[in-house]
Amino acid sequence: MLSADFGHLENECKMVNSSCAEWFHLDIMDGVFVPNLSYGFPVIKAIARYARKPMDAHLMTVQPANHYARCKEIGIEWLTVHYEACTHLHRDIQQIHALGMKAGVAINPATPVHLLDSTLPYADMILIMSVNPGYGGQQFIGETYGKIKQLTQMRRERDLSFLIQVDGGVSSENATHLYDAGADVLVAGHFVFSAPDPLEAIRSIS
Ligand code: ZN
Repeated sequence: MLSADFGHLENECKMVNSSCAEWFHLDIMDGVFVPNLSYGFPVIKAIARYARKPMDAHLMTVQPANHYARCKEIGIEWLTVHYEACTHLHRDIQQIHALGMKAGVAINPATPVHLLDSTLPYADMILIMSVNPGYGGQQFIGETYGKIKQLTQMRRERDLSFLIQVDGGVSSENATHLYDAGADVLVAGHFVFSAPDPLEAIRSIS
């Protein structure tokens, strides 16, 4: 929703409701963990009013634990925090689970997959950032494919079932390659909301 037209939020939400997209992905930025601010709880509340599909929040903030309870209260079902933002990641995952939400862990482009080794059994989803978080509309980083493949292999070898999500620069040009590499969930913002036909854009990457 980062690339949605906030002047027409109701219509944008209805478009997503009527599309074949499965979730609403909400990028929450604090201007500290990432250089940009996005939107906070009042806007998410407005989205929640119209969203008829699960809300998947991606917290790009320092001290994300300050927001878990509020996220639950507002109706978030999937909550993803950054590996780089959590000193006690295992505890963060426990806190998210204790509130009844699914817990995702995101890694930035510069963070190697092997650092998630001890986290994989506890996470419901791993989010591989395919751009440096902070802004919509950035160019996809090609090394992402290798990271997805590595993670897919770790998942298979350890018989785990977390989802692999990819966020940043996703389009119809790379969607098939990303699914082939092992991705389960693709996040698209700019590609969808800047398209002449957003419903068709979503179909093209589904
Ligand atoms: Zn995101």
